[in-house]
Amino acid sequence: MRVYNFSAGPSMLPLPVLEKAASELTEYGDSGMSVMEMSHRSKPYEKIITGAEASLRRIMNIPDNYKVLFLQGGASLQFASVPLNLMVNKKADYILSGQFSTKAYKEGLKYGDAAAIASSKDKNFTYIPKIKREDVRADADYLHICFNNTIYGTKYNYIPDTGDVPLVADMSSCILSEPVDVSKFGLIYAGAQKNVAPAGVTIVIVREDLIGHAREDTPSVMDYKLQADNGSMYNTPPCYPIYIAGLVFDWIESMGGLEAMKERNIKKAAVLYDYLDSQSYYIAPVEKEFRSMMNVTFVTGDADLDAKFAAEASEAGFKNVKGHRSVGGMRASIYNAMPYEGVCALAEFMDKFAKNNPKG
Ligand SMILES: *Cc1c(COP(=O)(O)O)cnc(C)c1O
Repeated sequence: MRVYNFSAGPSMLPLPVLEKAASELTEYGDSGMSVMEMSHRSKPYEKIITGAEASLRRIMNIPDNYKVLFLQGGASLQFASVPLNLMVNKKADYILSGQFSTKAYKEGLKYGDAAAIASSKDKNFTYIPKIKREDVRADADYLHICFNNTIYGTKYNYIPDTGDVPLVADMSSCILSEPVDVSKFGLIYAGAQKNVAPAGVTIVIVREDLIGHAREDTPSVMDYKLQADNGSMYNTPPCYPIYIAGLVFDWIESMGGLEAMKERNIKKAAVLYDYLDSQSYYIAPVEKEFRSMMNVTFVTGDADLDAKFAAEASEAGFKNVKGHRSVGGMRASIYNAMPYEGVCALAEFMDKFAKNNPKG
């Protein structure tokens, strides 16, 4: 029996995708072998990776002057790859909206003059700083943001205006949750294990004019130009996660694309936020206008009750609702694959728990 898995990542995958993968596990098409056993340079695999890219380009409406790369090392490697490839003038700006953006900033500091131009740390990252074009240094190589903050449950409700400075966004926990105008970004990256595929592949979407200027000491596998020129196959790509990503892209298309995903996700998130706003037992710490559609955070205000909640939820089939170890409380991650029914069932469980566990 499959549970409702609210894990922040690795997280749920759509059941039809898992079933399709299962049916092809031991033999893909008439290739006589599993995708896991295939040469990445074989004909059938070439079809898989080019098909996955084409399908991602369609659903995200990626302009032709952008490269799509399937890389390894997770989003965390991109914290270093971005400055290595893009910090031509050795100057980059960062907005700190949580743990991952802070890690990215610290990595940037290793390679040049990285500046934290705004931060929401003063209120424990419960909001997104609003910046204006003047706040970004005009000669910065890029402004880095984390578009959805997985741990704190916040999301940008605007795209920062950076003028001519390229905008770089970590979209690990919100990619494919709704349409985005890719042309507003110089580079988008996302580790796959939140909303796309099993862990192991990282998607990088980068404007062509930004590549080809990497620092001389950039490791070859991290050089966007080298990877782009080799179709993400400078070295062996993460073949199986790319295959699953392709199946997920097909699933999204079959569901009606990103507009349909957005509609579903708004409806799902509303179930939890409407419930949270209707009562006073649980507190939702994030400022309303910055609430994430993907990661819903809440606390009881009592660490023992929070722990009891997570334990009882798990027993009732709602897995991984414990908040990140650094913030405590609860977090329900409700990515594309989480069905509406799962969210409704969690809201009901929350209400029952509140009634059964009155606060002293
Ligand atoms: C999970 C996550 C990361 C880290 O991803 P890894 O693949 O573990 O490196 C970075 N940024 C965001 C927004 C995330 O959600």
